[in-house]
Amino acid sequence: MKKLTWELQYISPPPTIKYCKKCGKKTEYICSDLFRVNAQRKYLDVWLIYKCSNCNSTWNMTIYSRINPKSIDSKLLEGFYCNDEKLAEGYAMNSELIQKNGGEFGLPKYKIVGEDINFETSVELNIKSKYASQIKLSSVLREKLNLSQKSFEQLVIDGEVKSAEDLDLKKCKIKTENMIIINGRVERY
Ligand SMILES: [Zn+2]
Repeated sequence: MKKLTWELQYISPPPTIKYCKKCGKKTEYICSDLFRVNAQRKYLDVWLIYKCSNCNSTWNMTIYSRINPKSIDSKLLEGFYCNDEKLAEGYAMNSELIQKNGGEFGLPKYKIVGEDINFETSVELNIKSKYASQIKLSSVLREKLNLSQKSFEQLVIDGEVKSAEDLDLKKCKIKTENMIIINGRVERY
C-alpha cells in the first residue's frame, strides 16, 4: 500500500473564543504575540495579550500570577521580555491554559501540504499536525480530496475511506497524527 503524509500547516495560532464586554457577545480574540510582564521584588505576573477581532479591545491572558520571580527560569523570562514568537505561539496553542482563563479554542487557519490522492491505488495516509485542534478530520479530508459532505459520508459508509485507528471519521478532531486508509479503485475491481 502506498504511504503518504499530509501536513497541516497553521497560518495562525487558534483564536480564543471569549465574551467581549464591548461587543456584548462572544468573539474571536487574536493573539498579539506580545507579553506583558509585571515584575516586582516579590511577585511576578506574566500575561499574553489578545485583541478582540471585532473591536480591538485588549484581553490579557494570565500565564503567571504573583509567582516568586526566582522560581522562573531566566531564559523563559527573557523570552517574555523580548516577545518571543515561538513562546507566544506555544501558549496560544495551550488549550488547558486557555480554558483556565475562561476561553475556548477557535479554529486556526491552516493549509494542507501533501500529494493529492486520485483514488486509483490504495493509500495509507498520515495527516500530521503540530498540535491537536478543534478542526474536524473530515473537514481536512473533504477539502483536500475535494469532496462534498454527502460524497464523503458515502465513502465512509462504504468503507472506502476509513480511520486506521477505528475512529468515527464524521466526528473526530485533528490529533498530532491521524492515520487514514483510502481504498483505491484498482484494488476494488
Ligand atoms: Zn470586542
